[in-house]
Amino acid sequence: MKKIVVKGLAWVSVPFLWIGETAVLLFGRKLTEEECKTAKRLRVKSPEKVRVLCLGRGNAVGGVTLHRGIALFRRRDIGGDHTLDAYLKHELVHVGQYERLGGRAAFLQEYYDQIFGYVWQVRGEGKGRSHGLSCDFFLGYINAPLEIEARKLSGTRIPRYDC
Ligand SMILES: [Zn+2]
Repeated sequence: MKKIVVKGLAWVSVPFLWIGETAVLLFGRKLTEEECKTAKRLRVKSPEKVRVLCLGRGNAVGGVTLHRGIALFRRRDIGGDHTLDAYLKHELVHVGQYERLGGRAAFLQEYYDQIFGYVWQVRGEGKGRSHGLSCDFFLGYINAPLEIEARKLSGTRIPRYDC
């Protein structure tokens, strides 16, 4: 059952991911030579195909990787302690994961499987391990091996979240 839900969600997400990716590829910048070298070290096979789009202002940084498009968000309202450079590295690890796993659908399937796997486990067993749905998802997200790898290789820390 979980496998079917995860697979379905991944396929439903692909067109949305593709739309976002297309926007980043159109409006984003290429990686600099230095960033390309960093990307190679972070296991990205084709750094020349990556584009980066920075949005917003402020010190706090967040990001999302849409296959080969990296969107970085700067925000004013939260006290972030990551530099743009650190967060770019984190997202580059995700680009490498997309490549390694075989593209958009394969990555999403694995990513959702890791997050939902956790949520499914703590809620399904009903042994009082659930911390509420949004916290369960947050814990699933920070404990997903793909996120652990990205944090480890980039040196970024777990984002703050009140659970
Ligand atoms: Zn991440």
